[in-house]
Amino acid sequence: MPSSLPKLISTDFDGTLVHHDHDPEDFQPLWDFFSYLQKEHGVLWAINTGRDLDFTLYGLEEYQISAKPDFLLTMEREIHLPAEEGAPSAWIPHLAWNERCQEDHLALEEKITPQLDSFHRFLEQETTANPVFEEGRFVGIEASTEQELAQIVLRMDDFFSSSADFSYQRNGIYLRFCHVNYHKGAVLRELSRMLSLSPSEVCAAGDNFNDLAMLEPTAAEHLIAPENAIPEVKEALRKHRGIIAEGIAGQGVLEALKTIFVTKQA
Ligand SMILES: [Mg+2]
Repeated sequence: MPSSLPKLISTDFDGTLVHHDHDPEDFQPLWDFFSYLQKEHGVLWAINTGRDLDFTLYGLEEYQISAKPDFLLTMEREIHLPAEEGAPSAWIPHLAWNERCQEDHLALEEKITPQLDSFHRFLEQETTANPVFEEGRFVGIEASTEQELAQIVLRMDDFFSSSADFSYQRNGIYLRFCHVNYHKGAVLRELSRMLSLSPSEVCAAGDNFNDLAMLEPTAAEHLIAPENAIPEVKEALRKHRGIIAEGIAGQGVLEALKTIFVTKQA
């Protein structure tokens, strides 16, 4: 356990803060604890999710999340900062980072168009997975099951092994293509850099494949996984001496944050 207390907490959303089998009120104690940490400890809270900005904002309402995050890191790659009080939108994009990110992704996509085309044909001919399109661009996969996605992932090297900049983010039955330099760990490191925080002052909590990039000591030294995390995440946490909580999603995150802030501090 690092000697410093976290000053920034980066949490995934689905499966880590909330869980689809639970009622929103099951996680209310976590929102109260975030508000307490923000007010009493000056802790900053970032939601670091695969959701896009609109879907993240929808999630905050849907799950009646009463604490207000300080930052929204979306699509595993973009940074949104809080706007001034009274501004027309509550969130403003970090343009320098987000535009560079977009440019790198468009350049990658152009470079690997033939590989994307043949991978698309493979999906249609040999799998029951659906290609995902955004504004006409082939950006990822929705598989019919997690098992099917695992099988598809085994085949991806056949198409993309010569594309050094190509990577992907995997979460449940979904997979999103990405530039190798952008993932939850990269956005968390960029936010930490902006805030002049070292990894020993950063906490990350996640449950699925796309969280692995932030669940490591180069991004955060305080690490949390809820009970429902996939085995690969739990294995990473064991390796890095993180906290594997007993509670589901936000209940587990609350349990771990209390261990860090209350027990360790006492
Ligand atoms: Mg998740």
